[in-house]
Amino acid sequence: MLSYTTIQEAEAALGRPLTAAETLWFNYTATRSDYFLYCHNILFLFLIFSIFPYYYLFLEFFFSNSIKPYKIQPKVKLSFSDSIRCYKSVMRVFFLVVGPLQLISYPSVKMIGIRTSLPLPSMWEIVAQLGVYFIIEDYTNYWIHRFLHCKWGYEKIHKVHHEYTAPVGFAAPYAHWVEILILGIPSFLGPAIAPGHMITFWMWIGLRQIEAIETHSGYDFPWTPTKYIPFYGGADYHDYHHYVGGQSQSNFASVFTYCDYIYGTDKGFRYQKKVLRQLREGLINNQEETRVLHNITAKDHKLD
Ligand SMILES: [Zn+2]
Ligand SMILES: [Zn+2]
Repeated sequence: MLSYTTIQEAEAALGRPLTAAETLWFNYTATRSDYFLYCHNILFLFLIFSIFPYYYLFLEFFFSNSIKPYKIQPKVKLSFSDSIRCYKSVMRVFFLVVGPLQLISYPSVKMIGIRTSLPLPSMWEIVAQLGVYFIIEDYTNYWIHRFLHCKWGYEKIHKVHHEYTAPVGFAAPYAHWVEILILGIPSFLGPAIAPGHMITFWMWIGLRQIEAIETHSGYDFPWTPTKYIPFYGGADYHDYHHYVGGQSQSNFASVFTYCDYIYGTDKGFRYQKKVLRQLREGLINNQEETRVLHNITAKDHKLD
């Protein structure tokens, strides 16, 4: 809730007229509590989990031939009913865990200093903070994800997320509820270290999930804007992690590729890329192709 009751008061406090965006923000938030504004995340997440994966389903349904060349694992096709089953499971965890977590975590957001006040942050401030959040999340998530691939972590928790060896958009938030809770830490760490405006916080929570849906989409579209982000992993990168499965010692990072490069956990992925390149260039024949591709899992494990 803002500390001004009229736009004139707000302008007097800022010493300048409000921008159009600030006027909009004032009109929407002046009488609404900060808690209520924070809880908007529940609605945003619900919409993101419900809309974005359907975009890929829509493309598959109406443009299946056009998008076929971009399917990362063309031999695997998830049926419509399986996709819906995955969505229902995600929604169950969403309403039982994610939503309630949002409702009770407000004091921590207040404590770290997420503000709802005017002035609104500049575009630069938002972009810089989002960049920091993604880097912090990526690094922290990398280590948590590696831990989840130890025998205990995998069997007890992470196995659920790996049910899909050829992931689809719906499978991005498909995980054990404990994993959902644990992975909330990397998401929260960035805003805790560099707290910003509620709008930035909303954007962070939303973009992180949209990014996760894209990397689980099963399609490597050349027109994806994230292709222009340096060191960005993307769908092809994370798909390999699911393809290899529980034994995977490759591609743990959630967003970028440099952690796996620095810590040597992208060797299996690079090996697969090398094999596929050789196949394309005709350097190895079809008989060898079958043998090599069947051994990718084993190689990934050994190359750790
Ligand atoms: Zn994993
Ligand atoms: Zn995944």
